[in-house]
Amino acid sequence: PATPSRKHSIACIPADGIGPEVISAGVAVLKELAALDGTFELIFTNYDWSSATYKKSGKYIPDGGLESLKKHDAILFGAVGAPDVPDHISLWGLRLAICQPLQQYANVRPTKIFRGTQSPLRATSAGDLDWVIIRENSEGEYAGQGGRSHVGQPWETATEVSIFTRHAVTRLLEFAFEMARKRPKKHIIVVTKSNAQRNGMVMWDEIASSVAKRFPDVTVEKMLVDAMTCRMVLQPSSIDTIVATNLHADILSDLAAALAGSIGIAPTSNLDPTRQNPSMFEPIHGSAFDITGKGIANPVGTFWTAAELLKWLGEEEAAANMMECVENVCEAGILTRDLGGKAETKEVTEAVIAELRRSY
Ligand code: ATP
Ligand code: MG
Repeated sequence: PATPSRKHSIACIPADGIGPEVISAGVAVLKELAALDGTFELIFTNYDWSSATYKKSGKYIPDGGLESLKKHDAILFGAVGAPDVPDHISLWGLRLAICQPLQQYANVRPTKIFRGTQSPLRATSAGDLDWVIIRENSEGEYAGQGGRSHVGQPWETATEVSIFTRHAVTRLLEFAFEMARKRPKKHIIVVTKSNAQRNGMVMWDEIASSVAKRFPDVTVEKMLVDAMTCRMVLQPSSIDTIVATNLHADILSDLAAALAGSIGIAPTSNLDPTRQNPSMFEPIHGSAFDITGKGIANPVGTFWTAAELLKWLGEEEAAANMMECVENVCEAGILTRDLGGKAETKEVTEAVIAELRRSY
């Protein structure tokens, strides 16, 4: 066989809960795909950063860890969160501690209904729901600004300040419009809550209007986030690209994943569009301790995540091939319980590998 001409170095951070189960499934499929394709090579480096290491050492990321991460071309992330660590500590300790310094300011969450799976929406089938949600990933409601005073007193006060900067909103909207332009419908919905929040959200709307002028080929609509939830349920096929703040898009993308059938199938890309830093790819779901260790986690979200990672590294063809194989496996009814089937993680993974072998 020919020697692979392209090499990609991938950092794996399986972390907590079902993270290690789905990441090992994802890595197995990626290894098989690279071997079958033969034109590129994937080099994996494992980082055992997790809530378990935090409990031992007080740190999620060891000294020098971020510098080490920066040497890779991409990061494949599992999930973070443990029953005995408060969620805000684990999230800020690991996930946000990577996204923020690596300037992964655009979070991209595609949604679709796979062949062979069902949406909880009536009269919806594969193809009816094909969305991408772009989430601001560097500031906004999750900027971590604010504080508490008079803790424990009846008059205790807490503030959670949203930060919106022209710089960050502009770069995110530009990225979103670029993405909308590449999609078939060339349609974008800019979501805010600018009726009730009259500073940051109004600035979003203004910046959206000025960015829109530079994208005359993209149709723009503005919607309030509450109305958007209704539209996602009632008129799913009227939607293509959605761009929203950190908080709003977080919520809309969970809804999107549920409407597509399960949060076990959807991916998330945390991108540094400037490509100065590696981007990070992860399934949308969390650590799901209720099913950890049972071998029943749906690995499809990680397979789709792996395909998004490959696309970002320029391996478009291999990524498309992999998605086709995953969808064929779903269509053949090899589904985990969250999708109404009985298959275990291992069976789905083996079926995808078998399908890949057939396809090459
Ligand atoms: P976290 O706190 O890290 O967000 P979580 O315990 O809230 O994790 P999620 O991963 O957000 O759990 O998912 C909620 C529920 O959806 C889980 O309890 C689990 O039952 C189900 N679920 C999530 N991911 C998967 C998956 N990959 N396969 C099957 N079921 C899943
Ligand atoms: Mg959760």
